[in-house]
Amino acid sequence: MIKNEIKTTCSYCGVGCGIIVKKDINNKVFVEGDKDHPVNKGMLCSKGMNLHYVANDTSDRILYPEMRWSRSHPRERVSWDTALDRAASVFKSIIKKHGPDSVAFYVSGQSLTEEYYIANKLTKGFLGTNNIDTNSRLCMSSAVVGYKKTFGEDSVPISYADIELADTFLITGANPAWCHPILFRRIEKHKEENPNVKIIVIDPRKTDSANFADLHLQLIPGTDVILHNAIGRHLYKSGLINEDFIKNHTEGFDGYEKIIFETSLKQASKICGVSQDDIKKAAEIIGLSKGFISMWAMGLNQSVIGTDKNTSLLNLSLITGQVGKPGSGPFSLTGQPNAMGGREVGGMANLLAVHKDLQNEEHRREVAQFWGVDKISPKPGLTATEMFSALESGKLKAVWIVCTNPLVSMPNSHQIEKAMANSKFVVVQEISHKSDTVKYADLVLPAAAWLEKEGTMTNSERRISYLPKEIEAPGEARPDVEIFCDFAQRMGFRGFNYNNASEIYDEYASMTKGTNIDVSFLNYDRLKNEGTFQWPVNEYRHKGTPRLFEDKKFYTPSQKAIFNVPSTLENTSVKTNSEFPLILTTGRVRDQWHTMTKTGKVARLKTHYPKPVLEINPVDAYLNKISDGDITEIKSGNGIVRVRAKITDAIKEGVVFLPMHWGKVLQSNLNRANNLTNTHVDPVSKEPDFKFTSVSVSKYKKP
Ligand code: SF4
Repeated sequence: MIKNEIKTTCSYCGVGCGIIVKKDINNKVFVEGDKDHPVNKGMLCSKGMNLHYVANDTSDRILYPEMRWSRSHPRERVSWDTALDRAASVFKSIIKKHGPDSVAFYVSGQSLTEEYYIANKLTKGFLGTNNIDTNSRLCMSSAVVGYKKTFGEDSVPISYADIELADTFLITGANPAWCHPILFRRIEKHKEENPNVKIIVIDPRKTDSANFADLHLQLIPGTDVILHNAIGRHLYKSGLINEDFIKNHTEGFDGYEKIIFETSLKQASKICGVSQDDIKKAAEIIGLSKGFISMWAMGLNQSVIGTDKNTSLLNLSLITGQVGKPGSGPFSLTGQPNAMGGREVGGMANLLAVHKDLQNEEHRREVAQFWGVDKISPKPGLTATEMFSALESGKLKAVWIVCTNPLVSMPNSHQIEKAMANSKFVVVQEISHKSDTVKYADLVLPAAAWLEKEGTMTNSERRISYLPKEIEAPGEARPDVEIFCDFAQRMGFRGFNYNNASEIYDEYASMTKGTNIDVSFLNYDRLKNEGTFQWPVNEYRHKGTPRLFEDKKFYTPSQKAIFNVPSTLENTSVKTNSEFPLILTTGRVRDQWHTMTKTGKVARLKTHYPKPVLEINPVDAYLNKISDGDITEIKSGNGIVRVRAKITDAIKEGVVFLPMHWGKVLQSNLNRANNLTNTHVDPVSKEPDFKFTSVSVSKYKKP
């Protein structure tokens, strides 16, 4: 018998589907899609529709704080008082001896906005260091920089509702059919109902998204900028550009014009491995469209030239004037449910809350004044990869890891293992013992999970939703904001004695007043009673903003959008050679999510892609004497992976693919793709180069 039901939001990807959760008299929950929700209209993907298994199964949950007094002792159960007193005393003593930059927080795109906000206030405002970064650094920091460079601020201009108004989609570096399934279902349905709709996919793999497309440009990894520029060049040459928009609403076109003509169509075709005809066809589809949407994810972002890949794609929206009008605009897809919310509250080492800039003295002063502290340090904090390098070298002494599993998700896993082992003090605030990172913790703090706490999240289209608490957390697990605030008070900081999460949201909302992400007219009551809102919500009774820049006033000083000229055209961070002749790219599979600490608990999600396999082209398999199903050994300069081969022409010759989900706890660590990946990062966004590691592949022979 159902006792009550609530409306909430899926805790997996950035699509942000609405879910109805029903609870029975035994406190077991059931989920179904919310038919009234504007995002999914009742649909859920395989991950979302199995969320109740994750919520009901507490067998893997961390129930009590655990602590060890030294590395030679096992952890033992302790009280919250003992755990947080110890955390405070260790942090105080490390900061006293080595300064505030010797400690760091590493948080997550799964953290709720209130958690992100408080962690940032605590670190940047009170601990006195900007050493707080997020695992979202690994997935969308290049998109943040791309938007800032083009529009003046990190601003996704459009909504899912624009999908049904568009007639052309350029999906690049993304496989939404698997990774953002409900969003892709909306595109599929739109195309089924409107045969004039065209889809172009750019990807080295023939993914399910590519198979549905009208045109698949199967490029050589790392050549995206040249391909985008070649499309821009053909648009220009064919007269398919919007001169009025370029003249009146953009800057920097001269530099762009020059760069797109530096590479001929013939040269671009050769470099990218895409025929001249297909490049022309893509340009003509885009140029003739009435509503052009570009969508992208990790294939562009996770690169040493991630910023240039982003800006060169954004240039295509500018050259065609396809921004700030219905059914058109660039649309980055976030992989985590609240990556966008984290961006709003400045949840990265180089950002401040409400899109203020750490490098801007006036912005630092404003934020310090708001929090009632003397100053914010001007020194940029350590980004994700820098943080673990600093732990390895001993420069960073203590790290507090929240809701993320860097042992599996960070590049070069063996370096992360060394960094963790070398650190002086590691706090892991987590829900599950299945996280590989827990092994390295000196202090484990049990956190409340989805449905066990309240807060807000923002999805890929700037839509803020309220997530209510529906069930009690098991054991002594506590909401993350409570843990942060309790710790802050034990550190002697004032300004952390909130009565509930609603007060934290109100504080954040008041901080946004007058900014471009103003939600000062939004609060929990409105979110509970009126549903979701897309920021900004800057007037009383305002219903939110589905589309930005309709007035063609961008957030740059001149109010014009900016054509950026790429500093680098091709990813040359790694060279293939006779020792490592193939390029490894990594990514997701349909039914798993991140490092499987949640989806790995659901048996039915294992049937689609039960084990990690190496996807390899028939030609490369032949050259390396590999048959389908053989155990292969994949080597890079950083490590080894051993998995079975799947020979498929869905992957381009010269490229191999490994899924990124599997790690040590659930399988052998020889299944972990990030044993291999390199640690290069984009110089501006500091996003790692997950899609481009040179490797060798051979049939594994038991010694
Ligand atoms: Fe959840 Fe994303 Fe699936 Fe929607 S598409 S149900 S948000 S995992």
